[in-house]
Amino acid sequence: MVKEAVERVLSIRAEVDEAARRSGRSGRDVALVAVSKNHSVEAMKAFATAPIDGFGENRVQEAVEKRALWPDRGLPWRMIGHLQRNKVRKALAVFDSLDSLDSVDLALTLERVLAEEGRKLPALVEVKCSDDEAKTGLAPDGVEALLERIVTSCPHLSIEGLMTIGPLDGGERATRRAFSSLREQRGRLRERTGLALPHLSMGMSGDYLWAVEEGSTVLRIGTALFGRR
Ligand SMILES: *Cc1c(COP(=O)(O)O)cnc(C)c1O
Repeated sequence: MVKEAVERVLSIRAEVDEAARRSGRSGRDVALVAVSKNHSVEAMKAFATAPIDGFGENRVQEAVEKRALWPDRGLPWRMIGHLQRNKVRKALAVFDSLDSLDSVDLALTLERVLAEEGRKLPALVEVKCSDDEAKTGLAPDGVEALLERIVTSCPHLSIEGLMTIGPLDGGERATRRAFSSLREQRGRLRERTGLALPHLSMGMSGDYLWAVEEGSTVLRIGTALFGRR
């Protein structure tokens, strides 16, 4: 199981290297987060020695249960799903970063608990890439105000960039357009807020090579690593 897991990671890494080179970058600039939601701790452990950069989970309760079975803190665990404010304290006990910050209220709640605990949290702001009501994330026109609020009021949140989920059945053109528009928005936000925003988390099992070509620095890959959920 371990050998297969490592081989799957290496084969994705090789493709990512090539896609990064096509866009004038190096595969080393692209982090690979293994999305382990709905998979067991045993399945996750098979990846412990593979060249991945962390695990992604989208439900607090599931992550709490898994951490109890696997308290090892070697690889960072990232919260990639919508976080409810009443679960902030629980989430902070098991996650090392939040990729799905999507409101001022959530930022302020996080700030309060982080200040109390005396720690900083790396976070990405999740941006909705289409008008789809079912989609999570903040509408693009709300992102600047959120960043400004964080700069003035949330010293314990370290905003490292933006995250988006590509259109679910958008095809290549719509997907690339969503990813390139997030990259362009990052450029505008850099100028207007002065934040470096080094990271763009975009790209899942079905669209990660397009994402790399459009500038992704963090891939969140589940199915292509773990199989179907
Ligand atoms: C489930 C999930 C992924 C991984 O999706 P796959 O298509 O299985 O690679 C990535 N990002 C988020 C936010 C998810 O919820």
